[in-house]
Amino acid sequence: MEFQFYWLLVLPLFFALGWVAARLDIRQLLTESRTLPAAYFKGLNFLLNEQPDQAIEAFTEVARSHQQTTELHFALGSLFRRRGELDRATRMHQALVDRSDLGSDQRLAAVHELAQDYLKAGLLDRAETLLEELRGTEYQESALRFLREIYVAEKNWDKAIATARAMAGRPGIDAPEREIANYLCEVAALDYVQGRENEADRKIAEALQANRRCVRASILQGEWRAREGHHRAAIDLWSRVEQQNADYLFLVAGLVMEAHRQLDHAQDGLRLIQAWLERYPGLDLLAQVYQATVDLQGPAAALSLVRNELHRTPSLPALEKYLEARLLVPADQSELFLRGDERTDVELMRSLLQRQVSRQSVFLCRSCGFKARKFHWHCPACGQWESYPPRRHVEIDDLSQTPSM
Ligand SMILES: [Zn+2]
Repeated sequence: MEFQFYWLLVLPLFFALGWVAARLDIRQLLTESRTLPAAYFKGLNFLLNEQPDQAIEAFTEVARSHQQTTELHFALGSLFRRRGELDRATRMHQALVDRSDLGSDQRLAAVHELAQDYLKAGLLDRAETLLEELRGTEYQESALRFLREIYVAEKNWDKAIATARAMAGRPGIDAPEREIANYLCEVAALDYVQGRENEADRKIAEALQANRRCVRASILQGEWRAREGHHRAAIDLWSRVEQQNADYLFLVAGLVMEAHRQLDHAQDGLRLIQAWLERYPGLDLLAQVYQATVDLQGPAAALSLVRNELHRTPSLPALEKYLEARLLVPADQSELFLRGDERTDVELMRSLLQRQVSRQSVFLCRSCGFKARKFHWHCPACGQWESYPPRRHVEIDDLSQTPSM
């Protein structure tokens, strides 16, 4: 390509255009900073000096006098909600919802925020109305999650089930089939208590269809059969837990023993739960098998059982049970009977261990860390379903400290 002299003229022209553009930018920045109110900088200053309360007051002043600062309204609103100042959060978000100059995206965002304010304030019906508005919008997933929370709190199980079903298959939703099965168990239990036995059984079948590993469904139905005097059927239902999830067998071992006692087959029951323990070692199961062994075969048999378990899966609770069994052995079994100082020592060790073990023998919610003495299907603190692992904290601790072979 040949060099053209007029190109030399183009270069200074570009420089000139660049200079003008830069001037325009600076001028715009200056006008923008002049329109920012002094309170805004005051707020920033408070923030930098770690005085959040004063900063919030200053920003609130800006938001009040400058309605166009939409993002600031949103930020303050969610900040108020997080601080538990629900009145102020609600006012901030309600003002946004009421504004006619907002685009539909921002209005939906404001509705989404306001619904959360109402939810946190416990005004569930108001939250529900707003969340229903968000169906079919980009906030649908979050809205469904909140709606399900509301229906569970209201024990409106039909709506909870419908909502969980609508959520199924969406990304980031944790096992809705497990929750659906739990809701169906709730409905079934209510049906049974109110005398609708057939309906209750139908709901249990539905729960198992949603989640065939729903241990709770088998336990519930077994309890009903036992109450009706059908102990054999109850035992069969509870025995299904072994296939569904053997970690939960400790929840049915006591029930299975009682049903066998009712049938005058207590020894069969003991053999069954001893076989479970053999296959699935666990401390709660051990405690039940141990008690049944003491009752039916005496302390010496229980001592030998717990000694084997202690060697198989060493743990402090098993050691405590072992010492308890040692103390239970009667005087006529002289080689095992503890006397004098030896008995006093073992009693002391046992009571020390007992204190330590009982402090740690809790079920720990996987989701919020709430500690509970008894097992829950539904965390009373965070509302998650089946968030308690079927092992006590002390046991999980022991397992994690066992060196791997
Ligand atoms: Zn929890």
